[in-house]
Amino acid sequence: MTVSVTGATGFIGTRLVQRLHADNHNVCVLTRSKSKAETIFPVKNFPGIVIAEEAGWKDCIEGSNAVVNLAGMPISTRWSPEIKKEIKESRIRVTSKVVDLINSSPQGVRPTVLVSATAVGYYGTSETQVFNENSPSGNDYLAEVCREWEGTALKVDKDVRLALIRIGVVLGKDGGALDIFTFAAKMIPLFMMFAGGPLGSGQQWFSWIHLDDIVNLIYEALSNPSYKGVINGTAPNPVRLSEMCNQLGNVLGRPSWLPVPDFALKAVLGEGASVVLEGQKVVPAKAKELGFPFKYPYVKDALKSILS
Ligand code: NDP
Repeated sequence: MTVSVTGATGFIGTRLVQRLHADNHNVCVLTRSKSKAETIFPVKNFPGIVIAEEAGWKDCIEGSNAVVNLAGMPISTRWSPEIKKEIKESRIRVTSKVVDLINSSPQGVRPTVLVSATAVGYYGTSETQVFNENSPSGNDYLAEVCREWEGTALKVDKDVRLALIRIGVVLGKDGGALDIFTFAAKMIPLFMMFAGGPLGSGQQWFSWIHLDDIVNLIYEALSNPSYKGVINGTAPNPVRLSEMCNQLGNVLGRPSWLPVPDFALKAVLGEGASVVLEGQKVVPAKAKELGFPFKYPYVKDALKSILS
């Protein structure tokens, strides 16, 4: 199979491309920067991988069986009005381009599958509700971003199988919305400072997924025709933030760090901390129905595998 991937140089994309390449699939890395992509996928380790900047995306997509769309400006930054605009527009821009290129590809050589990322932010936030794929969208900024992002992907022609993966917070080494090492490094001093002070609740839900599982889910969606429509990319056992921090503390041999006040987390992590501070309990009803084999259903095992 030949697969074109946007956002291939990112946290999830890099691992996905490595996996596809290892399994002898042809990969086109669709990027904004060829030089950056070449450092991540050097030709000596990745012979045969095609790296294309925007002018070359058309040829890549026309020659692909499937496209994975992961690109977007990272949300784990401090949000200014300009950054919020780019968080949304970067996703719409790339998705729109990918969809146009698929739709205008000649029949017979066009991709038959589009796997497009979105996020659990679609559902908004709640401490009490449980969200599955049929739940309505929320009404905050991230929900709006996800709705428009998904709406753009839905413009792909109906004969192309579309899987929209609503991804939770991906846990893995070296990157992602919540790099666990960065998180730990930032949280320990905060805990020291605020232990015994005015406390945040820790009751927020944290819908996470291990990097291996999200890569496997996307990989499966590429070839399995049952994977279509919205699929929550989250582990079957979401946890409250206090539990997540307890487990992180246990695995690291430190006491639990929460609660810490929200304002302190925001000061350290920026407004992007909302993914941690105002969560949602999302269950992967569709993935379970499809029999997807989660390698890491429990956060403790996921953290152990990452931190060991
Ligand atoms: P990364 O931030 O690691 O990578 C995203 C990629 O998108 C980059 O490598 C870059 O590729 C491209 N990109 C970055 N900024 C822009 C921009 N302004 N305009 C166009 N393209 C840009 O993302 P992840 O791998 O962590 O996530 C992949 C997707 O999944 C993202 O869309 C993310 O929102 C979504 N997601 C991720 C979660 C997580 O926890 N990681 C949780 C929920 C959703 P290049 O420079 O090669 O063009």
